[in-house]
Amino acid sequence: MLDVENVTKEFGATRAVDRVSFAVERPGFIGIIGRSGAGKSTFLRMVNRLTDATTGAIRFRGRDVLALKGAEKRAWQSDCAMIFQQFNLVPRMDVVSNVLHGTLNRRSALATFFNLYPAEDIHRAIDILDRLGIAEQAAKRAEALSGGQQQRVAIARALMQDPQIILADEPIASLDPMNAQVVMDALRRIHEEDGRMVIANLHTLDTARRYCDRVIGMRDGRIVFDGTPEQLTTGV
Ligand code: ADP
Ligand code: ADP
Repeated sequence: MLDVENVTKEFGATRAVDRVSFAVERPGFIGIIGRSGAGKSTFLRMVNRLTDATTGAIRFRGRDVLALKGAEKRAWQSDCAMIFQQFNLVPRMDVVSNVLHGTLNRRSALATFFNLYPAEDIHRAIDILDRLGIAEQAAKRAEALSGGQQQRVAIARALMQDPQIILADEPIASLDPMNAQVVMDALRRIHEEDGRMVIANLHTLDTARRYCDRVIGMRDGRIVFDGTPEQLTTGV
């Protein structure tokens, strides 16, 4: 389904990602763990085409996603929606508008200027927020929400694109343990109920053990572990 073959990313003399290869047969919940600087974020950004790989191939359902251009590249970026440690919401904009923001490229410049969203999109946004337990926050400014709520808004924005894959780059690193659990539970449910693949960069082993069905460990840009959480022992 997802085939990563010898992917390398160099920043000058630094090899951030070094010949990473793995295959995903079915939509799983995959955690990538490793210390800061291990190359996790760079890897996810290459999958999503936010950054270009230096060499290697990434295929999804047989298609080389690293070769996509223009509209096809944008369609792929919707298909593997990304969420970030810092949520990346528009702080002063209300929650529903933040969720709808990702649909901007489907609307005309005029509709965008006047903030005209199709009613069906608004209904969908509210449904998704409801599912994530934050529909009551819909009219509030994003900045008025707690971190855990803001991350769920970011998840809702990702779900608006109906992605096959959710790429989560340290989704709980800025959250307290309670909010972290709420966000990880939400991702887990999206995986189980919708059958979407989740690939999450995590920096604690405990979270990976608890939520993931496959764990990939990275160190210095390389994969040093690839297995089930049960196979993970400290210091492997
Ligand atoms: P902790 O962060 O739990 O105190 P360490 O300082 O030993 O533990 O590890 C730092 C990070 O490195 C951990 O958060 C963990 O996710 C990651 N890590 C531990 N073992 C591995 C491994 N075999 N491969 C990749 N990353 C690992
Ligand atoms: P992680 O997500 O595991 O913390 P990163 O992918 O952010 O790791 O970083 C991997 C390595 O690549 C680090 O050595 C980092 O300094 C380097 N790096 C990441 N992004 C850039 C960049 N834009 N320019 C130069 N070096 C970078």
